[in-house]
Amino acid sequence: MALMGQMMSAPLLISSIIKHAARYYGDTEIVSRRTEGDIHRYNYRECELRSRKLAQALAALGVQQGDRIGTLAWNGYRHLEIYYGVSGMGAVCHTINPRLFPEQIAYIINHAEDGYVFFDLTFLPLVEGVAAHCPKVKGWVLMSDRAHMPAESKVPLLCYEDLIDGQDGGYTWPTFDENTASSLCYTSGTTGNPKGALYSHRSTVLHSYGSALPDVLNCSARDVILPVVPMFHVNAWGLPYSVPLVGAKLVFPGAKLDGASLYELFEQEQVTFSAGVPTVWLGLLQHVQGNGLKFSSFHRTVIGGSAAPPAMIRALEALGVDVVHAWGMTEMSPLGTAGTLMAKHDALPDDEKHLILEKQGRVVFGVDMKIVDGDGEELPWDGKAFGDLHVRGPWVIDHYFRVDASPLVDGWFPTGDVATIDADGYMQITDRSKDVIKSGGEWISSIDIENVAAAHPAVHMAACISAFHPKWDERPLLVVVKKPGAEVTREELLAFFEGKVAKWWIPDDVVFTTEIPLTATGKMQKLKLREQFKDYRLPSA
Ligand code: AMP
Repeated sequence: MALMGQMMSAPLLISSIIKHAARYYGDTEIVSRRTEGDIHRYNYRECELRSRKLAQALAALGVQQGDRIGTLAWNGYRHLEIYYGVSGMGAVCHTINPRLFPEQIAYIINHAEDGYVFFDLTFLPLVEGVAAHCPKVKGWVLMSDRAHMPAESKVPLLCYEDLIDGQDGGYTWPTFDENTASSLCYTSGTTGNPKGALYSHRSTVLHSYGSALPDVLNCSARDVILPVVPMFHVNAWGLPYSVPLVGAKLVFPGAKLDGASLYELFEQEQVTFSAGVPTVWLGLLQHVQGNGLKFSSFHRTVIGGSAAPPAMIRALEALGVDVVHAWGMTEMSPLGTAGTLMAKHDALPDDEKHLILEKQGRVVFGVDMKIVDGDGEELPWDGKAFGDLHVRGPWVIDHYFRVDASPLVDGWFPTGDVATIDADGYMQITDRSKDVIKSGGEWISSIDIENVAAAHPAVHMAACISAFHPKWDERPLLVVVKKPGAEVTREELLAFFEGKVAKWWIPDDVVFTTEIPLTATGKMQKLKLREQFKDYRLPSA
């Protein structure tokens, strides 16, 4: 018979994170740029109290454990209170991406059966548009004070600050099973309806520990952390949990995510660490480089969500910012891997170090990964063989919310990404399986092509998609947005590829455009681009 350990059995609950921050880092600041226009400041002690008042208010409204509460909100302190107040009371914090189409938002609210929806002032028109299609929502809560409530609205509204003010805070966080659902995020759903990943308290707390580790997000109480990645996109990569867990100062940018506004906040609050998708850093870099500015405190960032172009990693480094390239997905809470160097790499020449830093990195303990071929056979870790990337672990989904069929294959979650893994366990994404270009039966990585193009000084953004070819089936077509005022021809760009990729990987054509469509999570929308160019005749065809 097994001999059982004799340690206390304390469930891993999300409320314990904010309790910890309030008790041990009570004075540490949380700074938010509000949709009302001003900067709001308070600390973890006040945040925890207001989260408890919110839980109290929700209980008074009849919200029960397991009920879903939606949010349509930017990164800010009230959103943080909802994260803790809702999950802390045993209900489910359902963050909704406001950049989705209104029909998708209504679908998600109905599918989740959200009882109440909290929203920022910015989203009042959106709420007025979808409310009639969401009959099960009992109340829409505007996340502001009485003074900012609209004089009239098509939808009856509750006022957030009234809810908080009505409570005395005499509420104790309940204790329950750590496997209880805590929060819900829907995938952006480029194909078909969005699907929900339902996280638990246990998975979230474990993910918070794992992601704070030195070779992952490397969060410390000494840091000032500004999550640019939205709280409506996979819980801002878990930062609203991992930052209070370590007790760092937290800075929220609200709705203003342009380069100038971010730079101002980075400097004003002396931000040391931030995280976001590549498109956000494009905007920030353009502002900083264009105005000859420098960062006085910002020195580390995590880039993920899409591949970080090597040119972007170099540009940030030139400004004194170390880049950690990370990979994950909604179904994984989201962190899977992060790319930091090992001690044995210190002696390598700079270029070789960068080849490693450009990879998506090694797994965080808590995630196991493998690559498989079309028959499900595991492929070698040689950095060359590429196949479907499968993952498993305590913060990877087992099912989608309210979908009976299991997404798993032999107990592993198929990510839909194609990757290589090298002997040291560094994973590199070749492509999203739908985006890979299948030329004459061989695969071309659209990410590799984009990375080369992004390094050209005249290129602002580049997307590589497949275009029909009568002989090869598909050939790469490069769609490019030039930097303002910069000039480059099709021939010059194609010549730029020579010696950088295999000859047959060089795109067949280049199209210049003014804008590349982005998804609701800031990724290049290749599906839309492929549709746009579906009748495109390559000169080679
Ligand atoms: P989402 O669930 O919206 O976070 O999207 C997850 C997907 O984004 C992954 O399956 C990848 O295809 C892509 N992705 C995330 N991080 C990276 C990265 N660092 N490099 C390339 N693709 C990434």
